[in-house]
Amino acid sequence: MTREQLLTGLQQEYAQKREDNMRLYEQHKDEACARCVGLEDLLVARHAAIVMGVRTSLLQKQKNPKASTNLPNAMQQYNQRIAALLEKNGLDSDYLQPIYTCQACKDEGYIYDPSRRMCECMATELNSRVLRDLGLDGDKHTFEAFDETLFSDEKTDGAPSQRAVTKINRDICIRYADSFPQTPTRDLLLIGKSGLGKTFLLQAIARRVVQRGYMPVYTSAYRMFELTRRAYMENNSAIMQELMNAELLLLDDLGTEPLMNNVTVTQLFNLLNERQLAGRHTVISTNLSFNEIAARYTERISSRFLDQTGCSRLVFIGDDIRKNLRRGANEE
Ligand SMILES: [Zn+2]
Repeated sequence: MTREQLLTGLQQEYAQKREDNMRLYEQHKDEACARCVGLEDLLVARHAAIVMGVRTSLLQKQKNPKASTNLPNAMQQYNQRIAALLEKNGLDSDYLQPIYTCQACKDEGYIYDPSRRMCECMATELNSRVLRDLGLDGDKHTFEAFDETLFSDEKTDGAPSQRAVTKINRDICIRYADSFPQTPTRDLLLIGKSGLGKTFLLQAIARRVVQRGYMPVYTSAYRMFELTRRAYMENNSAIMQELMNAELLLLDDLGTEPLMNNVTVTQLFNLLNERQLAGRHTVISTNLSFNEIAARYTERISSRFLDQTGCSRLVFIGDDIRKNLRRGANEE
């Protein structure tokens, strides 16, 4: 699903929520009116005062934009009388307040002060639906949860430690996610053996980009292979559209998928080529070395990762941290 489709679904639910709450309010009103003698008349009078007050104030404002009305005062008096009557009959004084699930946006999903923006309640729900749609539920793999102390701080022969290198790579990923789509380079290639935090960072990029209001596609190379195979078997290139068109494609574990004659290589080339031509962003992680990429996918593909203006290469070094992993930390 696209972000827009998820948003449309959410907006429909908000409309439903408003309707449900309105119905609940009507129920409250019927109950209260049955119980409190004189309440219905008061409510009718208050409503009439609102309508009249709005009309008068519009007319006054036409004549004199600075004119103020005494509508708020009148309303306050009505509200106090209504509250007193409710209490006298054993109901809460706010029993007839409008019912909103979210007070901030009154279940509109948007706040209009000073300009239209999505309410926190809707933004949070939309993000979690986008993440669920991407298969990234929960919030385990985030930049905030990235624990660099899991990586060795030992230096050998004056070379930077695994921790230092990983931190640099993490910072590049953070910068990429925070600046998307105006990233320093269009693509990233995370390269290194398994268990060095690459998948973690890929998912953290996806999360951050989702939080910022974009809709990336996160997928394993194996799933890409499955789609590729189906597109080939069914002679239907539309199957690849999701990967082709994603504004940001995060492709995890390149090299672990099976190779199917020339199909995988050709399709991967087409995918990368089309995305590049369209200026779309791609982030890939792989356990293969650079030479292995060239051997497996041909120079035609590996050379794309060499273009330093288009692609930053992040090389991960050291030992698999899963050996000394604590529960819930940077596993891959
Ligand atoms: Zn809200």
